[in-house]
Amino acid sequence: MKRVMVSGGAGFLGSHLCRKLLAQGNEVVCVDNYFTGTRANISELLENKNFDVLRHDVTFPLYVEVDEIYNLACPASPIHYQHDPVQTTKTSVMGAINMLGLAKRLRSRILQASTSEVYGDPEVHPQREDYRGLVNINGPRACYDEGKRCAETLFYDYQRQHGIGIRVARIFNTYGPRMHPQDGRVVSNFIIQALRNEPITLYGDGSQTRSFCYVDDLVDGLVRLMNVDGDVIGPVNLGNPHEISVRELAETVIELTGSRSVLDFRPLPADDPRQRCPDIGRASELLHWKPRVELRDGLSRTIAYFDELLAREPAPPQS
Ligand code: NAD
Ligand code: UDP
Ligand code: UDP
Repeated sequence: MKRVMVSGGAGFLGSHLCRKLLAQGNEVVCVDNYFTGTRANISELLENKNFDVLRHDVTFPLYVEVDEIYNLACPASPIHYQHDPVQTTKTSVMGAINMLGLAKRLRSRILQASTSEVYGDPEVHPQREDYRGLVNINGPRACYDEGKRCAETLFYDYQRQHGIGIRVARIFNTYGPRMHPQDGRVVSNFIIQALRNEPITLYGDGSQTRSFCYVDDLVDGLVRLMNVDGDVIGPVNLGNPHEISVRELAETVIELTGSRSVLDFRPLPADDPRQRCPDIGRASELLHWKPRVELRDGLSRTIAYFDELLAREPAPPQS
């Protein structure tokens, strides 16, 4: 049995990861400051005797004894990471230093949740790991993108300088149950709007593309990457290469929910990437991994989750 730490374990991806690691028979230590994560996400794990929770901010040092570390702590949606950009960069950079310092003392393996945002608004399509990206150093997304880029640099340097067993996953857009209902991400926004028959907020003309990976597939990829034998040099893309436009996504969600919602075109946010799609050749070769859940199937499961969540909300006051 391993003792595995998950920073950001009360968040969307982190809570799914904690659940999978427990199911595999590990002890799990969840470390979170509850900025965007919630106790509700991990409530049913609290009864498990192999599950521990620490309320802690990773920008401060942390002394615990664990065998393996998944570093997921960082707000991931544009409205949350832009809420306090300085804290976002600190979380990525100082968080990485502290987690790497911990791994160095313990000689434990450590995985970084990096992001497709390190490619910025890419000129190369689909994105392979050797593409260096096009990131605006001074835009509203920079706190997240540059913070994650610097965190990656720290991981590679701790590997070279201190011989730490590192893994860097570049995660592409992921969706599924337990996404934060108010974090403004496109899948949760569209589903909630469709379920309420409210207008679907489409930014720009909706022709920008994304590639959406169901959370179970993504978490499976993270665990495989952590456990693959030997040294892994450089980052590994994890995501679903099925690319669609944001408009197509809106139309699919309307169809699957049977909604009466109409499309409401809004201005495109600054620096919004035009297109994004992972090349997952490296993950396929190294991890024998590929996503299995089709978009319509994953969306249906996510719709069922939000449907139940909204049903628990108090009814709006009668006018
Ligand atoms: P999330 O916001 O749901 O989870 C992040 C968690 O980190 C939350 O529980 C939050 O409270 C915690 N956290 C934030 N700052 C912290 C701090 N200073 N100290 C301790 N805990 C802190 O986001 P998510 O979607 O679960 O993303 C998890 C990780 O995966 C993030 O690092 C994110 O950058 C990365 N990622 C996610 C996606 C995606 O599509 N969901 C895509 C690319 C990368
Ligand atoms: N650190 C930590 N937990 C540990 C060991 C280190 O949080 O168990 C922090 C420590 O506070 C330091 C950072 O990790 O700021 C980097 O540690 P490292 O040993 O690499 O550097 P140094 O301590 O020499 O600055
Ligand atoms: N988007 C949209 N309507 C929304 C939320 C997002 O059209 O209500 C668009 C957004 O402009 C972007 C895409 O959907 O082009 C994905 O946005 P998200 O914030 O989910 O992720 P990211 O931009 O970080 O990939």
